[in-house]
Amino acid sequence: MTLSIFLFIFLTDIGSIIPVENQSEFTPRGIQDHFMALKTPVKQGGTTSSKAGQTKANPGTQMKQGKVQAQTTASGKSIFDAIPISLVLYLAKPYLAGETKEEALAIAHALYQENKYSSTLDILGEDASQDSDCDASVQHYKELIKLIADKPLALPESEARRQPTVSFKPSMFATKAPSVGMVRSAELDKAYNRIETLVGFAEGLGVRVTLEAEDHRWTDFHLETYFSLIESGYKNVGTVIQTRLFRTQKDLQRFDERMRTRVVIGIYNEPGTIAHTEKPIMKDLLVKYSRELLARGTYVEVATHDTQCLANFFAATVTDRVEPHRFETQYLQGVPRKRFQQALVSGQLFAGEEYKKVQEAQQFLANLAEQGVLVRMYLPFGEGKVAGAYCRRRLKENPNMITYGIKNLLKLDS
Ligand SMILES: Cc1cc2nc3c(=O)[nH]c(=O)nc-3n(C[C@H](O)[C@H](O)[C@H](O)COP(=O)(O)OP(=O)(O)OC[C@H]3O[C@@H](n4cnc5c(N)ncnc54)[C@H](O)[C@@H]3O)c2cc1C
Repeated sequence: MTLSIFLFIFLTDIGSIIPVENQSEFTPRGIQDHFMALKTPVKQGGTTSSKAGQTKANPGTQMKQGKVQAQTTASGKSIFDAIPISLVLYLAKPYLAGETKEEALAIAHALYQENKYSSTLDILGEDASQDSDCDASVQHYKELIKLIADKPLALPESEARRQPTVSFKPSMFATKAPSVGMVRSAELDKAYNRIETLVGFAEGLGVRVTLEAEDHRWTDFHLETYFSLIESGYKNVGTVIQTRLFRTQKDLQRFDERMRTRVVIGIYNEPGTIAHTEKPIMKDLLVKYSRELLARGTYVEVATHDTQCLANFFAATVTDRVEPHRFETQYLQGVPRKRFQQALVSGQLFAGEEYKKVQEAQQFLANLAEQGVLVRMYLPFGEGKVAGAYCRRRLKENPNMITYGIKNLLKLDS
């Protein structure tokens, strides 16, 4: 029964993502076209495509997303609640880095030794309901940070950015989600203190951390926390911005050279009143916002599996003459992108014919080809039951992951 529900979802959903797959295919021809389109250096507030500045939601897409999300049973439960945790974990296996911090760090070290991939480690969990859960999360993260500090990769200080980092979500440290716009409350003040404790602890041990972005109820708290930590003088903390949110265009203006941010399209299905609902727009904005952040001096971490979107980003960095040490790319461990990632790390991608044609940027291309681009893998880990519950929540939020999971099991690289 469960298997047939699962196959039904898979078969009905696969059609809806085919255009996305086509769009994510990397084509050298695409690079060439984008070099042509991106030859002018970025202007503040400029766009990389005529669609990028659009802020109106597309009702068709909203309906489509609504349909996917509406896969609930008569009792109002999501159909994903019917999938056993064991099957969820089986699908999620390629993304998970074991159950313990020791296992996750061993994977991080192996990834660096074998492929020169860096890592960011994330303890699975979120939506704490009691103060004791939040305090336990602080303790677990402290132990992880200490382990990373005690067992660093053998790298010179000049290469410190390649060391493993840590990622965490604000909701792990608060017992209740804030309402939109809420930044202070007794609950949130406690969450802020817990986050600051962790950031301070990690700074003392030389470990870099990232405060992640969650759904829009958290955005004010997560960003205000981040900027406040920066104003307090912490240098080891970065954050995340989501290109789908309309507000991000304005939030960008607060970033400067003291900061570091991951740029993502955003995983949460947000309402069309506050967010873009079409992926091509989010992807154009990913390039546009990354470019703006680089122009503001911020260290940028571009996190997407869409290789064409990344090709557009690289074309922009070459056009804007951005040195490779000012940015990196990030991926979920388990999404098959090995060929592309190896071409990035080795710099081989930039030695290709299509890049050679950009005559005026030869020196920058030579730097890219020589230094390569830093590739960082996202390594979430956690004990079976917690990891299963977490992955089920992700599935509910983004049912396309079922199709992605099956593609991964078939090892469809691109
Ligand atoms: C390192 C990292 C950190 C992130 N942190 C955050 C965060 O803090 N907050 C937040 O809201 N979002 C975060 N995200 C998620 C991000 O917002 C996107 O939802 C996610 O990356 C998918 O978007 P995409 O840009 O890869 O494009 P898509 O168009 O969604 O994907 C392109 C292709 O990549 C493959 N793919 C994408 N996702 C998966 C998957 N899960 N499994 C298997 N294959 C997949 C598929 O082949 C797909 O067609 C993070 C993503 C990464 C990689």
